[in-house]
Amino acid sequence: MSSRRWIGRGRAAEEYGLTIDQVDYAILLGLLRHKNLGKEGIIVYREDLERNLDIVRSFPKRIWIFKSEAMRRYGLSRNQLELAMKRGLVRFKEVKNPYYSKSKAIMLVIPDIEANLEVIKGYPKHNEQDKNKRRLYYERSKLRKRLEFYCPMCGKKVRPRRDSQVVKAVWGDFMSIDIAIEKLIIAHYRHVHTDYDRDKENIDKWIKEKEVEATAPGFKSFAGLLAYYLEYKDEMEDYEKEDYIEKLNALRRTAIMRAKEYYTEEALRLAEADGLLKREKTQPSIRDNNGT
Ligand SMILES: [Zn+2]
Repeated sequence: MSSRRWIGRGRAAEEYGLTIDQVDYAILLGLLRHKNLGKEGIIVYREDLERNLDIVRSFPKRIWIFKSEAMRRYGLSRNQLELAMKRGLVRFKEVKNPYYSKSKAIMLVIPDIEANLEVIKGYPKHNEQDKNKRRLYYERSKLRKRLEFYCPMCGKKVRPRRDSQVVKAVWGDFMSIDIAIEKLIIAHYRHVHTDYDRDKENIDKWIKEKEVEATAPGFKSFAGLLAYYLEYKDEMEDYEKEDYIEKLNALRRTAIMRAKEYYTEEALRLAEADGLLKREKTQPSIRDNNGT
């Protein structure tokens, strides 16, 4: 009995020649009783639909719009639409994001937006938080520009990356601009104009046989230790694996530290020869090149 009175939303649309959006809009306007069965979808009351069929047919065929699409189509900002949602001017629903399954997307009711468009346009385009973020972004960009230098080897200006530790240090007032630029120059020379990035992975070049033996008795090289580990790790207990990994990491850290020291010296010489470093040559602050 009740199964005939109630009908699935999609079925109803098909049977009466409507779009699903038109059925949804009838529900939103209170013309159509409905039940949300969760995963099994929404069912609607057939009698209500038949009684209001002409009105429902006159509804726009499409009533839902993604928030991002609405921003473009109506020239609104995210903040303006979110305020309209919060104040109940525009009804909305959450759906699965069509492009990125882990997040939700918001869909808004088009007739609500169109009915309130002038009011929504009067809302502030950005909220305080957005404004602060924008200001921070531009100030950091300005700072990165101040930290630029001309590299004669590249023949162009080099600007530090947004996530550079040196930029963060200057930003946080832990480092002066002058020292920061020197650090950036040396780091740039080390990474781009020496063999550092390749050579630092040649672990055995930077550690002695004795040191390997002291760390991992019976082994003479990092390469040998690594090969042994890779060959037998499937037979090892977890604690053994961890022990090998710790030893490998310790040797690798030492090697990279030494490679960095070595190539920092070379980078310094090159940068000095190019006339980029004006300060006292043996300034220790130049050499402890942390975080680059
Ligand atoms: Zn360069």
